[in-house]
Amino acid sequence: MSAEDAVSYMKVLREKYRTKHVCCDTLKLIADGTVEEHTALLFSAYADEPDNYGSELLGEEDMARAASLAAKEGFSVHIHAIGDKAVNRALTVLVGLGSISGTKTIAHNQLYSKDDKQRIAANGDIFFQTTPHWAKRDAFTLQSIGQERYEAQFPIGTMMKRQVPVTFGSDSCLEERTANAFLGMYEAIVSGDTAPDRESCLLAYTLRGARQLKADGVTGSICEGKSADFVVLDRDVMQCAPEEMKETTVLRTYFEGEMVYGE
Ligand SMILES: [Zn+2]
Repeated sequence: MSAEDAVSYMKVLREKYRTKHVCCDTLKLIADGTVEEHTALLFSAYADEPDNYGSELLGEEDMARAASLAAKEGFSVHIHAIGDKAVNRALTVLVGLGSISGTKTIAHNQLYSKDDKQRIAANGDIFFQTTPHWAKRDAFTLQSIGQERYEAQFPIGTMMKRQVPVTFGSDSCLEERTANAFLGMYEAIVSGDTAPDRESCLLAYTLRGARQLKADGVTGSICEGKSADFVVLDRDVMQCAPEEMKETTVLRTYFEGEMVYGE
């Protein structure tokens, strides 16, 4: 299927599935694989496989073409990039789009070159989306990418300090713990490259996430005119000890002002 045909089909799907709560208005492109599979695309080879630089799933030109066609039709553009070379390409594609009506996002963001950390910060309108639970350090990742890249992976705190719009999500329905936002906030604080502040972590799960989805006009914060979507917790996650954040329990959940969980 050509990129033109794919975007025409996306326009059909966008209308077919549109409801009050579902918007199919994002193009997701996949630049590379994962560090676990040694398919994340790297500038320097894997530490334990000196001939392996990872694999390219979509090249820069193909991504740029599809992204530009979709953006002109009002779609947001979201690129999966994990290795530093894939992140580099994703940034080039998104910066190249200029100003668009949708949003521009890089998902996962495990490894970054120094120059690209500066490039995304200088740009200002590219969302840095990740799952903070994955920042947790492990021996397999260390062996795969070596000490220097291992220490610098998931630069969540650095991005927040540089005012990059960071958003958090679970990415997976296979790994139940990643749906726990309080565990995610904890991991971001203890396992990222440098500790972010709690307010930035809360915003990454709420208002900034809503902005990435262009839903901040209706949700993401509690204020007049927005849908009353919120949870009641058993503790103050902004004040408790970091270790206690992990144990946070939701007592009640409200959606559009109605209690949908709790008693
Ligand atoms: Zn992905």
